[in-house]
Amino acid sequence: MNDGAPIEEVDALLIGAGIMSATVATLLKELDPSLRIVVFERLTRVAGESTDARNNAGTGHAALCELNYTPEKSDGSIDCTKAAKIMECFEQSKQLWSYLVERGLCERGSEFIRSVPHVSFVTGAEDVAFLRKRFALLQQNPLFRALEYSEDPSTLARWMPLVMSGRAADVPVAATRSSLGTDVDFGALARAMFARLEATPGFDLYLDHDVRALEQDADHQWRVRVQDETLDAPLRYRAKFVFIGAGGAAIDLLDASDIVEGQGYGGFPVSGMWLVCRNPDVIEKHHAKVYGKAKLGAPPMSVPHLDSRFIDGKRELLFGPFAGFSTKFLKEGSYLDMPTSVTADNILPMLHAGIRNVPLTVYLIEQVLQSTEDRMNALREFVADARTEDWTLEVAGQRVQVIKKDDEVGGKLEFGTEIVSARDNSLAALLGASPGASTSVSVALDLLEDCFTERMQSAPWREKLRAMIPSYGTKLADDEALIDRVRAHARATLGLDA
Ligand SMILES: Cc1cc2nc3c(=O)[nH]c(=O)nc-3n(C[C@H](O)[C@H](O)[C@H](O)COP(=O)(O)OP(=O)(O)OC[C@H]3O[C@@H](n4cnc5c(N)ncnc54)[C@H](O)[C@@H]3O)c2cc1C
Repeated sequence: MNDGAPIEEVDALLIGAGIMSATVATLLKELDPSLRIVVFERLTRVAGESTDARNNAGTGHAALCELNYTPEKSDGSIDCTKAAKIMECFEQSKQLWSYLVERGLCERGSEFIRSVPHVSFVTGAEDVAFLRKRFALLQQNPLFRALEYSEDPSTLARWMPLVMSGRAADVPVAATRSSLGTDVDFGALARAMFARLEATPGFDLYLDHDVRALEQDADHQWRVRVQDETLDAPLRYRAKFVFIGAGGAAIDLLDASDIVEGQGYGGFPVSGMWLVCRNPDVIEKHHAKVYGKAKLGAPPMSVPHLDSRFIDGKRELLFGPFAGFSTKFLKEGSYLDMPTSVTADNILPMLHAGIRNVPLTVYLIEQVLQSTEDRMNALREFVADARTEDWTLEVAGQRVQVIKKDDEVGGKLEFGTEIVSARDNSLAALLGASPGASTSVSVALDLLEDCFTERMQSAPWREKLRAMIPSYGTKLADDEALIDRVRAHARATLGLDA
């Protein structure tokens, strides 16, 4: 990797300027302001991939409406473990964001987060019974106590007039609603976080800089080659710690790092599309994020939902996502991304995962082949009188699901997020995209616990962590007084309703 360019030494080098690198860099700089940190982004703008508001659904995932976080098991019982975990994670995110807003992140929290009620909506006797049971179980956790439940069509019409209008009276319906729900513009948040970081000594963000290669030296430091696209010149860096926050491209960079822990991973890209409403009268009639149940065979992230959004401060209405398939790992990636990611290490896990997920492939093919009218009909299950002329189709971000080795079945497709870190803790990569940006704070904390273990346990860092995130190291569900305190603080600083 020696091309004659001078080497710059840094403490931490972060690849990608999405919400994940913004969060990791912010936490590190708060914990140790003396660290020298650089971030490289291949695009000419911050948050241009999945983190951009139009590329994701903007749901502050807190398990208040997403039915896939409370799966029904074969014995009919409902597992609320994942819902409880995601709620705890989102509460941590709100605590860090509140701390940052108080310290000048932006003028008002509403620049990136707004209260939008979260609603789960089901129809038919079987799903109504499921929702009723789910509600009763969630009520046992104090974090979900404010959730409301109703089977009364007139109450539901008050919660979501657009969805209840024109609906057959003889079909049982039920919904849960929470005023704790939020819509988050993760693009605006990441931009604000990077702007704040750029005003800090010892931090630099370079746009239009593509990280091309990484290699580890005997002293465990990383030599990183970056292409400065503005000058068409190579740059060389040496870093004590590298974070691969490259979204869908993380798999390739992890492979390039050659760490043993990164072997055998593959990626399966799932693209997305929204129907976006263009009629202000329709947009005004809806104020909620209404999540339904996923269709049989559908991947968990393609649960249909009708979302009130606030993008660049403007109210919008989006329906989707409709899943699709593209071999790109990033929206602005290359169609060769998936084919060229296949290596001797991951070919077997990928083949095994492919064989085991034929229904998913069939589902994605069906989704890709849908006509505008097919998509409008899916929307009409939510908005019975939706008119085709009020809606246009827009492309969302790419999600790359993780395929990993599995001793029993050869290879598995996973829908979660995974941190892969080097044994010597000098490098970490974030793979997968769900539940995503909402849990960026807890993911970043986990990553720092893996890679900065000693310092994360030191008294000064723990004290600072508790100042930023009062629930850090505790389980909020066990401390109702703390729940009330952190939520009241978030309401006041972020301008939320509940
Ligand atoms: C359709 C869809 C809906 C979603 N809905 C939600 C939701 O409702 N709520 C939620 O919380 N999450 C949601 N997510 C997930 C969420 O958007 C992602 O988890 C999150 O944005 C990932 O952030 P990131 O920083 O890891 O990656 P990204 O935002 O993708 O950023 C990675 C960056 O790395 C850059 N990069 C890549 N390779 C290189 C390189 N070699 N050199 C330099 N830079 C590089 C890319 O250009 C990109 O800017 C959704 C995602 C999708 C696709």
